[in-house]
Amino acid sequence: MQIIGNAHVKRALEIAEKGNHSILIIGNLTNVLQDGQPWPDDAWFSQPCPCGNFTAPKLSCSCLLEDIQRHRSAFPSCKITIELVRPTFNELIQEKIIPKNIDDTVKRLLETAYDKLFFTVQDIAHVLAVAYTIMAMDDGRNLEAQHIAEAIQYKALLKK
Ligand SMILES: [Zn+2]
Repeated sequence: MQIIGNAHVKRALEIAEKGNHSILIIGNLTNVLQDGQPWPDDAWFSQPCPCGNFTAPKLSCSCLLEDIQRHRSAFPSCKITIELVRPTFNELIQEKIIPKNIDDTVKRLLETAYDKLFFTVQDIAHVLAVAYTIMAMDDGRNLEAQHIAEAIQYKALLKK
């Protein structure tokens, strides 16, 4: 897996791996990229609340407090518990999920998808992959707004 941002989670995972400690990661795993690298053996995962949006910045959680408490009381008891938060758009650029050298219009489109349409990190990675295919089909050399806009369309359906 590739964790974006979340330096505290990376650190906790290192400790868990080093000492073979159980670790519970609370958060939305759509903000982690699956790249074939395995999680530690004794890693557990849970959503922060039944709907999954409780700690995600800018997303709204529709859960009742009692439902959140019931949900959390079922968490396994691990030696390490850590919360995975939604990375900022800038962290996606810093960690090269979004190329640094793309033009501003392309960047703004992706930023809107991420911050306003609440695309996940995985969604953004998918949009870019599809956009590069569209670019190649157009014999283009640079990613243009139209490539991204079309690729966003293929994801946006799920966001309504
Ligand atoms: Zn919720």
